[in-house]
Amino acid sequence: MKTLALTLTAALFSVAFGAQAQVLNLYSARHYQTDEALYAEFTQQTGIKINRIEGKEDELLERIKNEGASSPADVFITVDASRLEIADKVGVFQPFDSKLVAERVPAHLRTPTWVAFSTRARVIVYNKVTVKPALVQSYEDLAKPALKGQVCVRSGAHPYNLSLGGALISHLGEAKTEEWARGLVANFARSPKGGDTDQLRAVAAGECGVALSNSYYLARLMRSTKPEDQQAVRLLGVVWPNQASWGTHINVSGAGIAKHAPNRAAAVKFLEYLTTDSAQRYFADGNNEWPVVKGVKVKNPALDALGDFKADELSIGQLANNSVLAQKVFDRAGWR
Ligand code: FE
Repeated sequence: MKTLALTLTAALFSVAFGAQAQVLNLYSARHYQTDEALYAEFTQQTGIKINRIEGKEDELLERIKNEGASSPADVFITVDASRLEIADKVGVFQPFDSKLVAERVPAHLRTPTWVAFSTRARVIVYNKVTVKPALVQSYEDLAKPALKGQVCVRSGAHPYNLSLGGALISHLGEAKTEEWARGLVANFARSPKGGDTDQLRAVAAGECGVALSNSYYLARLMRSTKPEDQQAVRLLGVVWPNQASWGTHINVSGAGIAKHAPNRAAAVKFLEYLTTDSAQRYFADGNNEWPVVKGVKVKNPALDALGDFKADELSIGQLANNSVLAQKVFDRAGWR
């Protein structure tokens, strides 16, 4: 009883002094070891406690949608531009303005409703024994007859491929992207199955000659101490696609403020905090990604080994917007 009385007093106290905003409800589909330090630092700097609601990307989105106007969500963090686009389309976010975020995050990596905090590249990986790298220098190359029966890739319905499709539509147009997808399907070594890591293993095993993968899966394999992973990595070559044209397609982790955020001011503070140098390092390195803020370097042996590349500077909002059309294009091309 005494505890209850104390709790009530504390609650009244915080209402009276407007201190009830000292909490942030974070719906996050990202959960890495470095997150603890990332959130602890925010609380230390601002006094705002973070309440984490974690789940799989699509489940969290469903949850916010179902909660509607009574959702406690303040910030929604997820991975992949096409997923952020879907969230935006169903009205999960509200617009926000922050001078600090605008200064720190390059314009092509934000939209009026969500902002990217780290980037990952969609790279071409080939078997060093069976494939000559000269054959696989661009995404377009993967659709050429020279690679018949050699290509392994996950489903065309997966967000990572839809975002790539969205970028290709921006650069090549819808018709050429469909032609590309048909060529890609014609080159399949097997029907799409598994995730990116499964494609990497299949290339190492010689089941296919070449695959598409997000860079962090490769980095994860490079940092693995398991002998079978190290052996696989020895057999894999990596290409930054399209260095001679528009640059390698990059995707993002990103976040926005929830439409019905009960703690909006704390949400803005949190997004601003994510652009600080130290948060950028935690956030990006937690999944072997790159910071979005210029000049912030991560100490990551796998990323160092992969080196620098020219990244596509297409607006992330534009490619996300095209990802819906990309699904139709891939369906027509038979990329299941
Ligand atoms: Fe992933």
